[in-house]
Amino acid sequence: MIQYKVAIVGAGPAGYFTAQALQNASNHERSFAIDLIERLPTPWGLVRSGVAPDHPKIKTVAKVFEKVAADPNFRLFANVELGRDLELADLIDRYDAVVLCTGSTKGKKLGIPGEDLANSISAAEFVPWYNAHPDFADFNIDLSGKVAVVIGAGNVAMDCARMLAVEAHELDSTDTAEHALTKLHDSEIKKVFITARRGAEHAAFTSPELRDLPKLEHTDVYINQDDIDLAQTRAAAEAEIEKHVASNLEAMRLIAESTKSGNEKSMHFLFQHTPKEIVGSGKVEAVLFETPNGEVRIDCDLVITAIGYESVPYVGVEFEKGKIKNTDGRIGNSNVYTVGWAKRGPSGVIGTNKSDASDVVEILLSNLEHPKNLGDVTQLLNSDHLVVDQNYWQRINEAETKAGEAVGKPRIKGTTVASLLNLGGL
Ligand SMILES: Cc1cc2nc3c(=O)[nH]c(=O)nc-3n(C[C@H](O)[C@H](O)[C@H](O)COP(=O)(O)OP(=O)(O)OC[C@H]3O[C@@H](n4cnc5c(N)ncnc54)[C@H](O)[C@@H]3O)c2cc1C
Repeated sequence: MIQYKVAIVGAGPAGYFTAQALQNASNHERSFAIDLIERLPTPWGLVRSGVAPDHPKIKTVAKVFEKVAADPNFRLFANVELGRDLELADLIDRYDAVVLCTGSTKGKKLGIPGEDLANSISAAEFVPWYNAHPDFADFNIDLSGKVAVVIGAGNVAMDCARMLAVEAHELDSTDTAEHALTKLHDSEIKKVFITARRGAEHAAFTSPELRDLPKLEHTDVYINQDDIDLAQTRAAAEAEIEKHVASNLEAMRLIAESTKSGNEKSMHFLFQHTPKEIVGSGKVEAVLFETPNGEVRIDCDLVITAIGYESVPYVGVEFEKGKIKNTDGRIGNSNVYTVGWAKRGPSGVIGTNKSDASDVVEILLSNLEHPKNLGDVTQLLNSDHLVVDQNYWQRINEAETKAGEAVGKPRIKGTTVASLLNLGGL
């Protein structure tokens, strides 16, 4: 039996699905020893720090990840960062293949004047803050104003808008970070605009998420019926309307027609609004938009930009247009590969990373030679480096879920590296 050693960097969906594809490729002739390296003390990537707290069902995919981790040939090395604690070249020397699944976490910028004003923030800050990502424990957001503008037309923009527009008590039974929950309870935000540059027919929202909006009990959601009619006409004039566009427009029409209950909190979708400038003296006061009807000014107290993500680069690999330069997931002719958002950029749902992982693993398998047998990650870390292995992570996981159970939440998350390490400490 031949055993290959594969290092996977990044314990998000792409990392686990890559490990799963390798496990599935094991047979009586070959097996794979998998070391999964993760910079945080906690795995699961955006399933933990991206997916909205009020969508707990989506997070049940973590059960699949933990099944992958239960394999005897799998080891977790969390609290270990590529570029900080070890270098890519050291992994390349020791492993038969290295797969980079480091995602893309930096928020893209609009590049318009006023973007750096206080309380003009990115979804790449707001989302990890409310999801207890340790890098954002001290992030500061001012929710004392009444109006927020979210710029973007995808599900991340919708998550941000919804988190601001629901009544905070609706989040009490979720795993929202405690610091965010306290702040959301004190929030004065009543009106949240979601603004899209193009027409409704081009929006990247997905229909199941849109269809959930009229079900919100304490939030009225507004879409202008005319926007949908015009979008329908434009889309039909170009070509046969694609299925997902038709489904989206139908979901938007249901929102437009939904009965409004006079709730204090509301969400408003605006299409064909291109942001030109964020204005304010020292702090956000308004956003100026270009629209088909001329310039529109929306007075507001908070701006959240949700227009996509790019990768944070590290040494040893070339990044291009916000992602790792690769051909079908392979980096040059090397034994280094990439899967997930680091490879494709920030698109697709969790499941997209599964098919992506299978495709790249197939290429990886076809390029394997004789196993190297030249050691592993354990030789690269200082002897005093605190590695969060699978047992350690399970203790963190249990401590968080136990604390949550006591108060009717799925978990109470540790919010700093130190508190997470403490939760799992013996
Ligand atoms: C706000 C938001 C909400 C979303 N909601 C949904 C949803 O409801 N449903 C759905 O299907 N999809 C959703 N998605 C999409 C889904 O989260 C992504 O498709 C998926 O997480 C991408 O997987 P990934 O493994 O490529 O990246 P990630 O999930 O980002 O994982 C990357 C991992 O790599 C680690 N890492 C980064 N750099 C290093 C380094 N140098 N060394 C070691 N480790 C490193 C990170 O800490 C992270 O754990 C959402 C995305 C966002 C941003």
